[in-house]
Amino acid sequence: MAAPGPLDAGAGVIEHSPNQGRAWRGTRITALLAERLAVPVALDDDARLGALGEALLGAGRGADPLVYVTVSSGIGSGIVSGGRMLRGAHGLAGEVGHLVVDPDGPRCACGRRGDVESYAGGAALARRARRAWPSGRLADGSAAPRDAAGIFRAARAGDPLARGIVAEAAEALGRGLAALATAIDPERIVVGGSLALSQGALVRRAVAIARRRCLAETGRRLVVVQSALGETSVLAGAALLAAELAGGAPPPGP
Ligand SMILES: [Zn+2]
Repeated sequence: MAAPGPLDAGAGVIEHSPNQGRAWRGTRITALLAERLAVPVALDDDARLGALGEALLGAGRGADPLVYVTVSSGIGSGIVSGGRMLRGAHGLAGEVGHLVVDPDGPRCACGRRGDVESYAGGAALARRARRAWPSGRLADGSAAPRDAAGIFRAARAGDPLARGIVAEAAEALGRGLAALATAIDPERIVVGGSLALSQGALVRRAVAIARRRCLAETGRRLVVVQSALGETSVLAGAALLAAELAGGAPPPGP
């Protein structure tokens, strides 16, 4: 199963998913599901599994290292090299959504200010919309946006406040992509997630910003493509992990 991080994949515990609410904190999800379903259950980070799916079956095939960035309600990334996910020493590799790009920026659900997700995540954008238009009306009197898609619509229609929020989202996402490119030197970055897939202009703008925020050598070679598996990249990665666990070492669980 895939879940938003941070989580302890080895122990099968969701530690703290900022956008999933407190009820999930510390949930021993694999043990619960294994008991109910009577099958072995493994857990990993959704963005990391999306990276595995895209690396082996999608737009990342043949690229090594491959970085996958998901932009949806939250923002995360996964790194795959040699056909394997990079989990990091504590399972926390790739949490680029919580990379601070402006310490005075808006508050993220994780508690930090001005991280990439606080500017460009769908849930954070919905929170920004509620604060940006407290009257519920745009300058022209029409109904104000209530979610990320509404902000992008209002920006395209020329609303100055919405355009500013979109510009900040593109800048933050661009800085996140630049950080990944600088630290990892990926052969390719695949971008997916519902917000990225529905707002292609945001991604193109963020990529142009990322190129400028990198070393010239890195920016020149930066290749960013759209997910080939769309909404199923995470599912594909989860299936690949299940197949690996079933075929290799004895599967975990009962
Ligand atoms: Zn955060």
